[in-house]
Amino acid sequence: MSDYDPNNIFARILRKEIPCKKVFEDDHVLAFHDINPQAPIHVLVIPKGAYVSLDDFSARASDAEIAALMRAVATIARQLGIDDSGYRFLANNGANAHQEVPHLHIHLFGGRQLGPMLKR
Ligand code: 5GP
Repeated sequence: MSDYDPNNIFARILRKEIPCKKVFEDDHVLAFHDINPQAPIHVLVIPKGAYVSLDDFSARASDAEIAALMRAVATIARQLGIDDSGYRFLANNGANAHQEVPHLHIHLFGGRQLGPMLKR
């Protein structure tokens, strides 16, 4: 995956063409509540740069962008008070993982027992 679609939904959120419920923002990262939450806390953490996937991000992003994304996940978890109880962060990457939005995003889930990692 490499061709970035500038009209994907998260690109439009970044351009403020459509609203989001923001929980965190810095120079490199935006995070907002998922529109269809799968847990009491379900936040999407995205780089501001135009990256389709982790493959794309790891190849083209700066060290500062990569560090900011990972640091943001933990910062948001603390901010939302789920650092002690625990949480899950994951990114669906590509077709086999059912990635729906072609802009890299990390899901952050918390607020309840999350169960097994994968459907069996
Ligand atoms: P994926 O399946 O690509 O890993 O996850 C895409 C996520 O984006 C889904 O959890 C879906 O609910 C969320 N999503 C799709 N469209 C919107 C939107 O317009 N706003 C927000 N906040 N989340 C969205």
